[in-house]
Amino acid sequence: MPEGNFQYCDVSLPVPLDRVFTYSLPETLRHRVKRGCRILVPFGQRKLAGVVVRAHDERPPVETREAMQLLGEEPALEEDLLSLASWIANYYCAPLGEVLRAMIPLSSEVRRGKVYTLTDAGRDVARQQLIGEESEDPVIVILRLLEHRALSANYLGKKVKEADKVLRSLQRKGFVEVEDTAAEKDPLRAPASRLMVEFHSRVEEKLRKPERELLSFLELHPGAHSLAEVDQLVKGASQSARALARRGHLTLRHATTIHYQGEIRERHALNPHQLEALQQVRAGIEARRFQTFLLQGVTGSGKTEVYLCAIEAALAQGRSTLMLVPEIALTPAVSSQFFQRFGDRVAILHSAFSGSERAEQWRAIRAGKAMVVVGTRSGVFAPVQNLGLIVVDEEHDQSYKQEETPRYNGRDVAIVRARAAGACVLLGSATPSLESRYNVHRGKYTLLELPVRIAGRPMPVVETIDMRQEFLDTRKQATFSRRLLEEIASRLDAREQVMILHNRRGFSSFVACRSCGERVECRNCAVTLTYHHRDRRMLCHYCNYAERPPKRCPKCDSEHVYFLGTGAEKVEEELHLAFPRARVVRMDRDTVSGKRKFETILHGFRAHEYDTLVGTQMIAKGHDIPNVTLVGVVSADIGLGMPDFRAAERTFQLLTQVAGRAGRGQVPGVVIVQTINPDHYAVRFAALQDYRQFYEKEIQFRRMMRYPPFAALANVMVRSRNQQQALEMSAEIGNFFGPSPQDLKILGPAEAPISRLKEEFRYQLLLKAANRKRLNELLHSLRAFAEHRHWPPTSLVIDVDPLSLL
Ligand code: ADP
Ligand code: ZN
Ligand code: ZN
Repeated sequence: MPEGNFQYCDVSLPVPLDRVFTYSLPETLRHRVKRGCRILVPFGQRKLAGVVVRAHDERPPVETREAMQLLGEEPALEEDLLSLASWIANYYCAPLGEVLRAMIPLSSEVRRGKVYTLTDAGRDVARQQLIGEESEDPVIVILRLLEHRALSANYLGKKVKEADKVLRSLQRKGFVEVEDTAAEKDPLRAPASRLMVEFHSRVEEKLRKPERELLSFLELHPGAHSLAEVDQLVKGASQSARALARRGHLTLRHATTIHYQGEIRERHALNPHQLEALQQVRAGIEARRFQTFLLQGVTGSGKTEVYLCAIEAALAQGRSTLMLVPEIALTPAVSSQFFQRFGDRVAILHSAFSGSERAEQWRAIRAGKAMVVVGTRSGVFAPVQNLGLIVVDEEHDQSYKQEETPRYNGRDVAIVRARAAGACVLLGSATPSLESRYNVHRGKYTLLELPVRIAGRPMPVVETIDMRQEFLDTRKQATFSRRLLEEIASRLDAREQVMILHNRRGFSSFVACRSCGERVECRNCAVTLTYHHRDRRMLCHYCNYAERPPKRCPKCDSEHVYFLGTGAEKVEEELHLAFPRARVVRMDRDTVSGKRKFETILHGFRAHEYDTLVGTQMIAKGHDIPNVTLVGVVSADIGLGMPDFRAAERTFQLLTQVAGRAGRGQVPGVVIVQTINPDHYAVRFAALQDYRQFYEKEIQFRRMMRYPPFAALANVMVRSRNQQQALEMSAEIGNFFGPSPQDLKILGPAEAPISRLKEEFRYQLLLKAANRKRLNELLHSLRAFAEHRHWPPTSLVIDVDPLSLL
């Protein structure tokens, strides 16, 4: 599109509607507006930031409103990302405006002034409150509102009386943090805890005493430091640093990224398998061709080192790299590996960072300052130039799929982006998804294998314990088998460390009545409440609704209310009872609220401040702790019972990954898996750590049942607070599709496995198609139908390539 003097522009806005909106351009904007620019426009009563998709002179048939302000002179998105956005909107049947919003981490609802978030302490306080109980207390109302997202002072002011006063007092107590979005651009105005300071060069001019002291401290302590920490050591540092930075005498920047933690890793000479893998990837990059590699390496085989070398190869060609990692795996320890290797050329994009932190990083990338971007799912949209390589670590991980609109899979989008850019993709995993491994079989991906652990370390030995037999022998329903207890004891004696996996949060899984069988369910969702002992409340894991446990059965008034099932919290308690002297720490979503706590626990465990780490699947991913010689799995059966065709695959992956945490140091590892399904193939092949056999068996099942990778799948769900309405919509969709034609199989409409969630009734249809193009056309016409019938935009949910069928 030529630059010019246009009167109108079409803007894509973050609203759930499938269309662009035309605005007229005031004189001052006419020659500045370009495709890809962000622009502020009026929309109803609101002001929204959208993206210009076209500027033109075609007078629209209806009166248009005037655009207000250009947000940045340069396009926020270049042509490559704009066309990637169109691809996503089409493939995942999502409105373009919502795709564009997901791509740009700059806030679209232009909020001015202060934005509040809970601190870890605030979150703890909020948790102690019973969410289900009504309360008028402004303190509680505010804490509850903030439990789910950051909110502006403006919004809170409208919702709560005297919000200002309450917020100030909460801030004083350290329960909330405030961030001034007006100060976003100016790092000098951020609080000291958010800033890093670093020595720059010696200064000739005359300085004030505190300034001199700060500079000499920094000169003697090279590297970046948290300004808040330096402030404790050097008097007046926070103030001096700002003054010096303003005059250009030192470097002050947002503390998004630089956490030099953990040991400095040395560079290793690659072993022959790593070398072979690297050479193939390097050849692909140098030839500038689009090629996808699947790096399948057993746990501890040194995949990361291959990634790092491949990134170097891309940099050597002057090309940039995206490195995607699962949500939970992006810890400072991981980031620091990249910093050590690539220094300032690295930018980190993490969804846990605050809005302004992310915006800062994004701008640095857009300006071409960072050539290596490490990020979670949305990192795939980082606006780098001249892309040479995208690495997707743990490519099978579920967190690559976004569970809200646009419901894209970051791994799959990575491949589409790389294809357009003529770049290579390196997918890595010890347990590749069936889809990816099948693509090797079909010749679409190139397989690279790392079949052995580094330095000839043996794979851990896995033993399965049949818990049915254990029960027959002991006549006790115990959490730990005798064998596991004995192993834990001997590891603790040897001063080695133990990890215990229990993939279920809470204390007991549900609360039931012995007399009438009633189970206590959530008020908003069709799921049982989980008892959490620490907070003495029953919690819904889907909507966070909470209640006190009843003394008597709410249905039959019997006193015999009891707690059933075991959660990680109870496992922790039982470990305490069995080994009172062992130092136990637990890691799950209840103990890890902020990004920092996660790292604190891991760091403490790595430093052997704890002997045993108990946790949910969080503990299974990627951590490399050499002193762990025993891994125990309390129950391999939790995942197998899920109503999902991927249940076996998930169980296999989880068991293999967690087993891989054992024996990464000098002492060989032992893994003990407790189960009542010892003959299930997912358990058996995980125990043998035999991916190949698992794949053969599972792929047969998928072929027979026509599940992915043998069919394209879409989940169509309708939801409404009004059950009748939800039911009617689902019936209408059923009629819309008609009887299943030959190449399409439609299951439903039926109640969703979780038939009620957050007060909404849910019905779904599962579509399996042999032909993806046809599926895509059908889904688009379904959306047009829904719009034609004036269904509320959020009542119809289309999930293409769904990973969760709940
Ligand atoms: P994976 O991701 O495959 O489980 P990692 O990348 O975590 O394995 O590597 C395991 C350990 O081996 C790490 O501590 C890493 O630094 C080390 N390592 C990697 N490559 C080599 C090598 N060629 N020689 C020696 N040690 C290596
Ligand atoms: Zn009862
Ligand atoms: Zn609920």
